Amino acid sequence: SRAKLFDEKTDLKTTFKDVAGLEGAKEEIQEIVEFLRNPDKYTTLGGKIPKGALLVGPPGTGKTLLAKAVAGEAKVPFFSLSGSDFVEMFVGVGASRVRDLFKQAKDKAPAIIFIDEIDAVGRARGKNNFSGSNDERENTLNQLLTEMDGFGTNTHVIVLAATNRADVLDKALLRAGRFDRQIYVDLPDVRERKEIFEVHLKPLKKVEDLDIDFLAKQTPGFSGADIANVCNEAALIAARNNKTAVDKQDFLDAVDRIVGGLEKKNKIVT
Ligand code: ATP
Repeated sequence: SRAKLFDEKTDLKTTFKDVAGLEGAKEEIQEIVEFLRNPDKYTTLGGKIPKGALLVGPPGTGKTLLAKAVAGEAKVPFFSLSGSDFVEMFVGVGASRVRDLFKQAKDKAPAIIFIDEIDAVGRARGKNNFSGSNDERENTLNQLLTEMDGFGTNTHVIVLAATNRADVLDKALLRAGRFDRQIYVDLPDVRERKEIFEVHLKPLKKVEDLDIDFLAKQTPGFSGADIANVCNEAALIAARNNKTAVDKQDFLDAVDRIVGGLEKKNKIVT
């Protein structure tokens, strides 16, 4: 709904064990977990804790999941909103929502703010100025920059943002003291796909001899979100066929269905 502009979650159960693969990204982001757990340790020597990090990678690769896991690992509240929610907003509303969000996060610090699809608000200014909503987008972006600059070293709020288009972002966002760290979250390789399958197979009732290596090999180019979909679809297909356990054929049928869906989507997006 349009009214629900940001979510606050304080009972986060997501941790790094829910995030399969992505070893490099987890290692990099572990540092942020440490800062949030023990901010004073890092500031007593005069160091400045980073204010933000950008998670960059294709859709469905686990950027949101990783951000939630940071909050879960550090046991801090997680405030999230999506850049695309601002697109339809009335003048003045975007900036005030950003202000409210930062105020609430600061009140509950240490905390994580997560901005999904930051490119929707953070695209370089002064381009494509033909749409009326552009001013509002710029106001929102400016407010975001103002808020991040306003953090003192003692604020202990870290802003994580996700995008699959880092190249279109306004350079002001990437400047020192803002999103000056980029963490890459790539599509999984075959070994990582196997790990992602293992996570999403856990809740399923499946045949004993299911070959997970085979499933990983059958799914090149699939994201973590695609694999989660395959597992769910396979369970639904098996149920429709009145099976008591999900078997290899159900997974193959589910893979076909997801591939079909991806092809259709690619055709529309071009
Ligand atoms: P988008 O760019 O589309 O917002 P995203 O990168 O934020 O995508 P998520 O929303 O984190 O992707 O992923 C969607 C779902 O896919 C997750 O909730 C999870 O179920 C599954 N998933 C994605 N990546 C992984 C992973 N590395 N390990 C386990 N599950 C994953």
